Amino acid sequence: QEIGETGGGLRRGGSLVAKDARHVLHPWADLSALGGQGSLMVCEAQGVEVMDSAGRKYLDAIGGMWCVTVGYGRPELIDAMQAQARRMPYFTPFADVANEPAAELAALLAELSPGDLNRVHFTTCGSTAVESAVRIAHLYFASRGRPAKRHVLSRVNAYHGSTYLAASLSGKEADRTRFHYETEWVHHLENPGFDPDDAPLSASERLGQLIDGMEAAIADIGPENIACFIAEPVLASGGVLIPPPGYHQATRELCRRHDILYISDEVVTGFGRVGHFFASEAKFGIVPDMVVTAKGLTSGYQPLGAVLISDHIAGTLTESADPAKPVFSNGFTYSGHPVACATAIANIDVMQREDICGHVRDVGPYFVERLRELRNSPLVSAVRGDHLMACVECQVPGETGPTARNQALAGRVDAYCEKAGLLVRPFENLCIMSPPLVITKDEIDRIVAIMTESLARAEHDLRAGEIC
Ligand code: PMP
Repeated sequence: QEIGETGGGLRRGGSLVAKDARHVLHPWADLSALGGQGSLMVCEAQGVEVMDSAGRKYLDAIGGMWCVTVGYGRPELIDAMQAQARRMPYFTPFADVANEPAAELAALLAELSPGDLNRVHFTTCGSTAVESAVRIAHLYFASRGRPAKRHVLSRVNAYHGSTYLAASLSGKEADRTRFHYETEWVHHLENPGFDPDDAPLSASERLGQLIDGMEAAIADIGPENIACFIAEPVLASGGVLIPPPGYHQATRELCRRHDILYISDEVVTGFGRVGHFFASEAKFGIVPDMVVTAKGLTSGYQPLGAVLISDHIAGTLTESADPAKPVFSNGFTYSGHPVACATAIANIDVMQREDICGHVRDVGPYFVERLRELRNSPLVSAVRGDHLMACVECQVPGETGPTARNQALAGRVDAYCEKAGLLVRPFENLCIMSPPLVITKDEIDRIVAIMTESLARAEHDLRAGEIC
């Protein structure tokens, strides 16, 4: 059954596509179009490709959703999932009950993580890891007798998840709909993105501005009221926004000076996407107080998140526990799920044996360089990237920002890509790309060829007055 011609081509799939359209409320669905058009029903996947229910194959330039890092169909991960499900699929992780894969994985993460981040609190996904990290920051200061320190600094254009607090920490104006958001103790600093192609200031001038702004915000709120600063090393969903050199160290230093915990949200940048298991220390030279991870931790094969916590914080929580109520009252039924943890162990093993991070450091610059050629199209206003995370910004010449027409234009580019067998991720007027880390240079060439052709076709449509 054909559901209809969408922007992305024919979406077929029989009764299941109809069931989906009738009954599923998709994350981030367009409410005005709910149930109106069929979705792309993805059924099979192998390597860097997925296949829809009509048998059409697509090169997955989204990496599932920033998360499928070692590629699809990996027997090592599938075998680990199966074996653990047979041996012991689930038991409570609460209080003094442990499971083997969670213990093994925690020790592995302690080895891979920066500095003294040796204590792991498992969660179910990125959002719950972000929430947990902030709660741990609150508990840490309460334990030190400083409960007033509860305000949180985030940044404009950040994305930290979709639970209530994580959504409040996120700073993308376009995402703010009629939901409620915490505003009393959540503050957004300026978007720190710096694009040398398009900057009135030098990198060091911009850095100075950003740090002055952060210092002013800290003075305004009062350091005695601030618990933590949460930051993606490279802002991902906000449009692959890369801060100027020195930003990470300078913000780290400000936090240290004002006794503010630094939480690095490495949900996207962790597990190889920018060439290292964790970007904070290896790439940006800082050791945060906590690191949040998810996505690539299991290559997306299982839902899992984790907060990596410094020995100092964990020690403070222990030593200063409330004698009347010493319970760490945070955690989820599926925290440290054994099947998910077994998958993560197999995933880390594959990444190490195949030196996936080394591969990313090899092909990543090629990916960004090749994508930058797309700036030859008059429809591309910017291309930003760091290894295998990149963003192609589309706009009608002369029309800046995520206007309705620019969004329609990016949607058209995306639709042509889909027709040609390439999935990119349109968000507003941005095509955000994060392919599986095992992608080859030939496959990168294919992405660039399809994007080039799709931009040319969209340009033709624009000239024909078809995009309004
Ligand atoms: N932090 C960052 C940086 C993210 O990109 C995301 C998800 N895209 C999250 C947190 C939330 O993760 P999840 O969707 O697994 O809850």
